[in-house]
Amino acid sequence: EFPTTSVAVVNLTNILHNVENILKLAREHNSQVKIMPVVKANAYGHGDVPIVKELLKEMNIHRFAVNRVLEGVKIRKALQKENFNDVDILVLGYAIPTEVKNCVTFDLTPTISGDPLIIETLFDECVKQDKKIKVHVKIDTGMGRFGLLPNKVESFLHWFTNNPRNFPSRIILEGVFTHFSSADEKSKDYTQYQFDKFIEMRKLIETILEENPNKLQHSNEIIYHCCNSAATLFYPEMHLDMVRPGVSIYGLSPSNITNDERLPFQLRPALSLISHVARVEKLPHKSTVSYGNTYVVENEYETLALIPVGYGDGYKRINSHKSHVLIGGVECPVVGRVCMDQFVVRIPDEIADQVKVNDQVVLLGKQGDKELTCEKLSEWSHTINYEIVTALLPRLKRIYV
Ligand code: PLP
Repeated sequence: EFPTTSVAVVNLTNILHNVENILKLAREHNSQVKIMPVVKANAYGHGDVPIVKELLKEMNIHRFAVNRVLEGVKIRKALQKENFNDVDILVLGYAIPTEVKNCVTFDLTPTISGDPLIIETLFDECVKQDKKIKVHVKIDTGMGRFGLLPNKVESFLHWFTNNPRNFPSRIILEGVFTHFSSADEKSKDYTQYQFDKFIEMRKLIETILEENPNKLQHSNEIIYHCCNSAATLFYPEMHLDMVRPGVSIYGLSPSNITNDERLPFQLRPALSLISHVARVEKLPHKSTVSYGNTYVVENEYETLALIPVGYGDGYKRINSHKSHVLIGGVECPVVGRVCMDQFVVRIPDEIADQVKVNDQVVLLGKQGDKELTCEKLSEWSHTINYEIVTALLPRLKRIYV
């Protein structure tokens, strides 16, 4: 039973399978390791609140990462409605001073990259609301993107701990992390370089904390973390105190290689994109299809089916003339341009007489013994599996099974 023509079906059992196996792998190396699933960008298109609730209820996971304050606020409000109170939400990205105040209001954990204005704003807001806030410091060990450069860590911590305003009385340093730029690639060298740099920073921070034993709260419990999916799966020795997998919990390979042989267990993709045939017609020789008449019927007749999905759902226009869908377990190529709400496929002769309006169409996922993987789709649209699922827009209803 489908509620509407075109839906993203999210298999929660597969997500649990992936997370359970990631956790099992991590615990083989460190029985105390924590996990913080990354649910930014609407859980990579899968729907953030339902995924968070499932992991909370079924696996008792109570740490999640988002990128923006707004994403955290949305999840926090949904959890509060159901009285889930002990959930930590880390905001991985930069927040401007006006919105970072919402981290205090909604008990979100912001990422600190050394900007004094953010620290001062957080501190003032904590005083105003009479609250404390946990923060994680991000160190840029080589991604060249966001975070404190290693040569600024020492001066930042000295400023933070020795400032007359006594920041540590309200701002608790709970974690320190970094992000790898190429853990998914064949060579380990750069990841090892970044990891070594991070360990060097950990030593430095520990030394500073030892010198200032009373100045930083929670100093003995700082959580050090650096592993995205690729590092979590390929380099267990780098897990440290916590892993931060994103794409793999949704069953997608971080290297964009289906069943990458380095994967320690088989990931199960969670999302299928399902639609229904909206029209079937035989069009005669020389008929043209879709905007710009870029497809012309070559044979005496061709059977063409209309699929009610388009770039307004996140099915990219670049798929025009390139991708295919599955109908009746058979690959049917896209002909003509993908429009905002629909596109047309050619039905191969072998099933031309069998296809009917309302037949199920698979754009991503399995049908019979055929499978259209995210990696295959990403090839057609010159991108990576991450973008295929993240690009799915809100109009596409998510259903959970
Ligand atoms: N940590 C940070 C800081 C990230 O930005 C991301 C995603 O880009 C992740 C973890 C998760 O990465 P992945 O989806 O490759 O597991």
